[in-house]
Amino acid sequence: MQAVKRMIPLYLFSLSVVLACAVLTSRAVGLLARTASAELPALLPTVVVDPGHGGEDGGAVSPGGVKESDLNLETSLRLRDLLDFVGIPTVMTRRTDLSIFSPEARTVSEKKISDLKNRVRLVEQTPNALLISIHQNMFSQSKYRGAQVFYRDSSGSRTLAETIQELLRRSLDPGNHRKAKENQTAYLLTHIHCTAVLVECGFLSNPEEEALLQTAAYQKKLAAAVCAGLWTHLQEQKET
Ligand SMILES: [Zn+2]
Repeated sequence: MQAVKRMIPLYLFSLSVVLACAVLTSRAVGLLARTASAELPALLPTVVVDPGHGGEDGGAVSPGGVKESDLNLETSLRLRDLLDFVGIPTVMTRRTDLSIFSPEARTVSEKKISDLKNRVRLVEQTPNALLISIHQNMFSQSKYRGAQVFYRDSSGSRTLAETIQELLRRSLDPGNHRKAKENQTAYLLTHIHCTAVLVECGFLSNPEEEALLQTAAYQKKLAAAVCAGLWTHLQEQKET
């Protein structure tokens, strides 16, 4: 296992700056400024940032034609940039609009399975990994909205998900009363062994939220809330 050590003062400075830049009007700023006064553990996880779907697999598509895979990638790159900036190591499962299936996969379903297996392999091969998978939600009725965080069946995953969920509520939508929830069906979450959460950023089936999810400002707030949730989680772990 590779220890990743950073200078704490750099974190404190970096987090303040990045949050001020990313979410100037967000309620997360105050909360995060308070969290930033604490120290992080010397041994940090490597965060595997996973933009869901990609390439031929666009994921959910809104009635207006907005592809989930595109928004997943945009928001994930913003999250990756924030994490990198504050000194938390990252690995991405994809950086462009591609599915990462192996060459031998031929059919659509073979490619989908191969893509997911390769994502699992990447997470499992990453020392001290922590997975954050980014997705967008979709439902048959347009009235539903709100970000929701799902977690793998482990106590660390649950506490991380609950922390991120609370920050998403405070910084994006105080009226969002969704709870972090265990997911026992998502392939990625059920085939890996590290702390893992899947963030459904919002509903493409809700026109208002669909519009927000496409804006740089909203994506930055999402990324900042997730980054801050992880930061808080790492700090709480250090104290226990
Ligand atoms: Zn998805």
